[in-house]
Amino acid sequence: MEQHIVKIKSIDQVTHDVLRFETEKPANFIFKPGQASRISINKEGWEKKKRSFTFTNLPEDDHLEFVIKTYPSHEGVTNELLTLKAGDELIVHEVWGSIAYKGEGVFIAGGAGVTPFISILRHLHGKKQLGNNRLLFANKTVADIIHNDEFKDMLGQNFINILSQEEAEGFDHGWISEEFLKKHGVNDYKYVYLCGPKPMMENIEGQLLKLGVQEDAIIREIF
Ligand SMILES: Cc1cc2nc3c(=O)[nH]c(=O)nc-3n(C[C@H](O)[C@H](O)[C@H](O)COP(=O)(O)OP(=O)(O)OC[C@H]3O[C@@H](n4cnc5c(N)ncnc54)[C@H](O)[C@@H]3O)c2cc1C
Repeated sequence: MEQHIVKIKSIDQVTHDVLRFETEKPANFIFKPGQASRISINKEGWEKKKRSFTFTNLPEDDHLEFVIKTYPSHEGVTNELLTLKAGDELIVHEVWGSIAYKGEGVFIAGGAGVTPFISILRHLHGKKQLGNNRLLFANKTVADIIHNDEFKDMLGQNFINILSQEEAEGFDHGWISEEFLKKHGVNDYKYVYLCGPKPMMENIEGQLLKLGVQEDAIIREIF
């Protein structure tokens, strides 16, 4: 089974509960934007506890990057990640994931479900091929929005936020609904990319189908 030990180069705070890990990259390591890996911590008792995290950097970079939402409320892997520092090690296992860019579309993300889209959108941006791709991003509050400034810079008017627990100027408020999806043009695109927690995904998939989006036009991953 594929397995690489990589040293953590740096850890930064992205939001109040999201961290960015930059690690070494194993030689000849290949992944596609949108893909993830099973990761564990190279520390006694944690080596076999694998969790999936998405590569958020570009495949050609000389390092790996992960943007990880932590859950300090229970003693899982992400809580243990909070104790790590530069120089500690992660184990990168097999590369996998079902999200890959097929063509222009609407990207719909809930919270950390945006991670596969970070790499895909950065990749397109780097090639000047962002076109009319659009990101609809659902979070609880403004403080929860991962890479708010970067998405604004990359996507401009095509970066649309909706907040469920805060009313803020310039932001839609509430849950993603059929009306919201219609208003933001899901029917005008060939593809819909969807990633987030299971209840959100089930809800939105139902809404998309009701709006006439074809099932095979939906590219999805449950977090
Ligand atoms: C393909 C793929 C790619 C992913 N990429 C990313 C990524 O790039 N970044 C990212 O942040 N996440 C990503 N995820 C989600 C990530 O894998 C999970 O958030 C992670 O496994 C959580 O690990 P954990 O051990 O901390 O929590 P787990 O123990 O695995 O628990 C997961 C969930 O259950 C809840 N939970 C379980 N037990 C308790 C408890 N006792 N008390 C409170 N809550 C509990 C947690 O709130 C959490 O939502 C990805 C998932 C998939 C499938």
